[in-house]
Amino acid sequence: MLVFKTAQELRSCFKSNTQTVGMVPTMGALHEGHLSLVKKACEENDVVVVSIYINPTQFNKVADLEKYPSNFEKDKALLEPFSRQLLLYAPDHKEIYPEGIQSKTYNFGTIANHMEGAFRKGHFDGVATVVETLLRKIQPQNAYFGEKDFQQLQVIKALTTQKKLGITIVSCPIVREKDGLAMSSRNRLLSPEQRQAAPRIFASLGELKKKNFGKKVPLMEAFFKNEIAREKELEVEYFFVASPTDLIPVSVIEEGIDYRIFVAVFAGKTRLIDTVELGRI
Ligand code: AMP
Repeated sequence: MLVFKTAQELRSCFKSNTQTVGMVPTMGALHEGHLSLVKKACEENDVVVVSIYINPTQFNKVADLEKYPSNFEKDKALLEPFSRQLLLYAPDHKEIYPEGIQSKTYNFGTIANHMEGAFRKGHFDGVATVVETLLRKIQPQNAYFGEKDFQQLQVIKALTTQKKLGITIVSCPIVREKDGLAMSSRNRLLSPEQRQAAPRIFASLGELKKKNFGKKVPLMEAFFKNEIAREKELEVEYFFVASPTDLIPVSVIEEGIDYRIFVAVFAGKTRLIDTVELGRI
């Protein structure tokens, strides 16, 4: 597999302007969730660039950045089956932040203000900074992102529109473990006890969807917190219901509007997020 540290070298491999280029930005510690994006990108493009770069500016806590898992050799092995079409971009900090490691400031309106935007201050400025840099450097036609990070996906769509990047953002469904836990690089940080408890997050969301809470979100939240409290390893950070278009949390469900549930749950110091469609009533 061809591995590049600079976008300039990587782009010199693009054969012609008629080739379509897809991009899958990641922070490594790859799993089947990432690979589903890579697979889709390979189906839809001639060449696919996968980037592996742990972006410091999107971490609001130093400890979280320091313990973020990484295993470059294993990542390369997982990408090997796609190597015919794939170029691996593994930049260093100087390539991405030549002027020093700092976020730019963006305004995405309501979509970035709540949930991850509120609980991880500066997170989306960091995400947008690195994604804008990566997309400008590689200039793909299509870029692939997972619904696992649903709010991030909306922020990136807004970024490409705002900055007129002319890139199609393709959203990909959440890939889960057999027991329902959303795949995440952070799952590697879970102790065996925490790993055993973690599927309760998705299971509780499933239970919640089967019940009738009379349009009242606080009742849903109480139910979810109660379910999660049955696992001593888990603690709810937030539970929100929001429309996928404005991502503003609501307390009452209105008829005829699509909603999603968004949760963040701590398993010890590891923070897990999940989201499911609630649909409409
Ligand atoms: P990350 O390496 O966590 O920054 O993720 C890179 C990309 O993979 C992002 O677009 C994520 O939304 C996506 N991703 C991560 N986990 C999953 C999953 N379980 N299912 C689908 N996409 C995912």
